[in-house]
Amino acid sequence: MEKKRVYTFGNGAAEGRADMKNLLGGKGANLAEMNLIGVPVPPGFTITTEVCTEYNELGRDYVINVLKGEVEDAIIQIEKLTGTKFGDKDNPLLVSVRSGARVSMPGMMDTVLNLGLNDDAVEGIAKKSGNERFAWDSYRRFVQMYGDVVLGMKPHSKEDIDPFEEIMEEMKASKGIELDTEFTTDDLKQLVKLFKAAVKEKTGKEFPVSPWDQLWGSVCAVFDSWMNERAILYRKMNNFPEEWGTAVNVQAMVYGNMGKTSGTGVAFTRDAATGENIFNGEYLIDAQGEDVVSGVRTPQQITTEGSRRWAKLQGISEEERSAKYPSLEEVMPECAAELIAVQQKLEDYFKDMQDLEFTIQDGKLWLLQTRSGKRTGAAMIKIAIDMLHEGYIDEKTVLKRCDPEKLDELLHPVFDKNALAKAKPITHGLPASPGAAAGQVVFHADEAEEWSKEGKQVILCRIETSPEDLRGMNSAQGILTSRGGMTSHAAVVARGMGKCCVSAANNLIIDYKTRSLSINGKEIKEGDWLSLDGSTGYVYEGKIATQDADLDENFDELMSIAEKYARMDVRTNADTPKDAAVARKFGAKGIGLCRTEHMFFEEDKIVPMREMILSKDEEGRRKALEKLLPLQKKDFLGIFRAMDGLPVTVRLLDPPLHEFVPHDEKGQMEMAKVMGISYKDIHDRVEGLMEANPMLGLRGCRLGNLYPEITEMQTRAIIEAAIELKKEGITAIPEIMVPLTGIVHEFKAQKDIIESTIHEVFAENNESVEYKIGTMIEIPRAAITAHKIAAEADFFSFGTNDLTQLTFGYSRDDVAKFLPMYLDKGILKQDPFAVLDQNGVGQLVRMAVQTGREVKTTLKCGICGEHGGEPSSVKFCHTVGLNYVSCSPFRVPIARLAAAQAAIEG
Ligand code: PEP
Ligand code: MG
Repeated sequence: MEKKRVYTFGNGAAEGRADMKNLLGGKGANLAEMNLIGVPVPPGFTITTEVCTEYNELGRDYVINVLKGEVEDAIIQIEKLTGTKFGDKDNPLLVSVRSGARVSMPGMMDTVLNLGLNDDAVEGIAKKSGNERFAWDSYRRFVQMYGDVVLGMKPHSKEDIDPFEEIMEEMKASKGIELDTEFTTDDLKQLVKLFKAAVKEKTGKEFPVSPWDQLWGSVCAVFDSWMNERAILYRKMNNFPEEWGTAVNVQAMVYGNMGKTSGTGVAFTRDAATGENIFNGEYLIDAQGEDVVSGVRTPQQITTEGSRRWAKLQGISEEERSAKYPSLEEVMPECAAELIAVQQKLEDYFKDMQDLEFTIQDGKLWLLQTRSGKRTGAAMIKIAIDMLHEGYIDEKTVLKRCDPEKLDELLHPVFDKNALAKAKPITHGLPASPGAAAGQVVFHADEAEEWSKEGKQVILCRIETSPEDLRGMNSAQGILTSRGGMTSHAAVVARGMGKCCVSAANNLIIDYKTRSLSINGKEIKEGDWLSLDGSTGYVYEGKIATQDADLDENFDELMSIAEKYARMDVRTNADTPKDAAVARKFGAKGIGLCRTEHMFFEEDKIVPMREMILSKDEEGRRKALEKLLPLQKKDFLGIFRAMDGLPVTVRLLDPPLHEFVPHDEKGQMEMAKVMGISYKDIHDRVEGLMEANPMLGLRGCRLGNLYPEITEMQTRAIIEAAIELKKEGITAIPEIMVPLTGIVHEFKAQKDIIESTIHEVFAENNESVEYKIGTMIEIPRAAITAHKIAAEADFFSFGTNDLTQLTFGYSRDDVAKFLPMYLDKGILKQDPFAVLDQNGVGQLVRMAVQTGREVKTTLKCGICGEHGGEPSSVKFCHTVGLNYVSCSPFRVPIARLAAAQAAIEG
């Protein structure tokens, strides 16, 4: 049988289902399902995502040829259901053509509305609707959209303006009018003429008259839009593969712009910012969908309760609100009641917060889309936990629904309460996406990107945003717009990114030309500081200090569910008692990596440390190490205390010695004075430490083997601290870790020194503590000879930073020189220093765990490279059987959730 490429739906029947998202895209699958559960949806059909791939591989002609029969049949079905005819001059069928990938990519791809209009059909629509102006307005919009999307007339740079907008602006100026709604029918007729002339001039061809030509043009444009720059960037940012493709949805048009009894809107079944179980949304009377999200007109609220809340935030009186901005409940109570019932039905059915698009045509409600709504991290957790309590979903679904990376938003700072109390807001707008942000004002997205590359914090200020601003929004700390609503592009995209956003700020006038904005007469220029509170909508002048976020009981409940299912523990990489305490609060089960070299950079230790390195013999080194011992012991006392009862993996000194010594004349003179030797001696010694390839030089256990007295001192400091605490009733569980082992003998040599020192300290104190001695596995040779090393080591900790460096042969410090190019060209799919390379480095990890445990079944294995806090890498660690992952304190909750997801995914 020939492959099925088109799936129809309409009037309560559908060939597709909600679980066919990969084939029909999210929109198409849910349109089908809505039909099946009795929600009113205009009839239509979906062309599958597989056709998009065929289009990219085999081209336009091939695709049109194979689709023709099925599409013609599907159009006939819509004609039957609507009683209209495609291309008919009396009763024409008009359709919309929309993209729909398997996951939503808001605003990334193109849409064409009112397709099927031409000089004949417009008369038919005028007659049928009894509204000539509406017919011509639809026609004007169609030519414009088709010209922009299909015929490539959309402006390409920020300096260019849309040729159709230009024509409209000229006409407005000549007629002395301001709004689109002020155009007369004759104006609209004239505009269509001028638009078509512009098309002819720009493309050299007449605007297509045949609805079939229009349809194929639009279908192909949607497929083309899968490969446009915005869509490619969005996929890259979200790690969506190109192979997915987009479906195309063709649907009978319904109109929200047919006068006062029509309207259109978007709604969320729960609050997408906070997660509260409140149905909310925005609509406009006599408008098409684009009008609501573009921010050109002020959208109104659906419920009266929501409308009152909105008015309060905007500083609008109840009198003004009910006169100018009434709710849908007030304007069309029956439609509003039906919409409220439908949203409940959809949420009950899909068991998740839904994001809906609806249109009311002449008093009749139609749903155009439902999908799981994008939400903030806080809303993600609240909705999942509430739905668990409400009996919609079980614990495993809660875990699957929560995206580990999104927890990051909750862990971000909010404004410092004291600093905030002193700050005076200069205006406020809608709290479009929560969080706190302070930054320097910029007005263009590309500049936001440039400034942020220079290390500056920026607030991107726009009248409204569009998908072209995506990169800039991503680089900015926060986004401020003077127009738009809670569902505007800025709001939706910022929430998806977890970025703070205030939209529709009161009395904010932005002037792109002078690169300034004014708020109630106060002028703010490019580069000035502003602070935004995306949770309240307030905007402040200057830079307000921030503080750590407060985590609520929903977060705690999510973490305890994660705890219940995760098999791996999560530890933290921490070198200070403060970091250790933060991580413990987030649920870390110990320290997986304490890098002792960080401790030596502190003021009181750097001088004796330098003395130790610059000494010419062992005696000198031992003298300096004696000074370091009590200081180092103090460090361990603090960390063990913070981690009372939990294991602490302390890594012996790792980096090249020359990193610690002064390279400038002043510093070297100082050391000469301290050590009572000549400047020249110091200088020569520093020179002697230089290496051509320090990352491959005297570092790791090579140091401890060259100067065993360093290993002795560190071991002594660790064990003496543990014994001292034992006397206070505090349990320290030290795990001493040897860095950069490549050969079992170099580990064994270190282990011997560590053990003999431990026994010396035990004997001196007549006391003992529990301890382990293990090694980092971060050199490929160590992974390959893991069975030998496992015979000697109590544990392995995979240092995947170095293991990646040494497996790829890419310098950790210089990779940025070529990595962006590799990512751009697709030579690498991801940065291997951020996301574990499962096929290469990961296989070394897998092999080392396996062969190590063949020798020692109790071998404890963990990871402490940066990958330990990256969700996909954490999942891989689960599958290869690691006992724990270790990551920076603020990544601990993320790793805990990822570990639980790995466990339930099996
Ligand atoms: C590693 O190499 O993965 C590691 C954790 O050690 P460092 O980053 O300190 O080299
Ligand atoms: Mg390392």
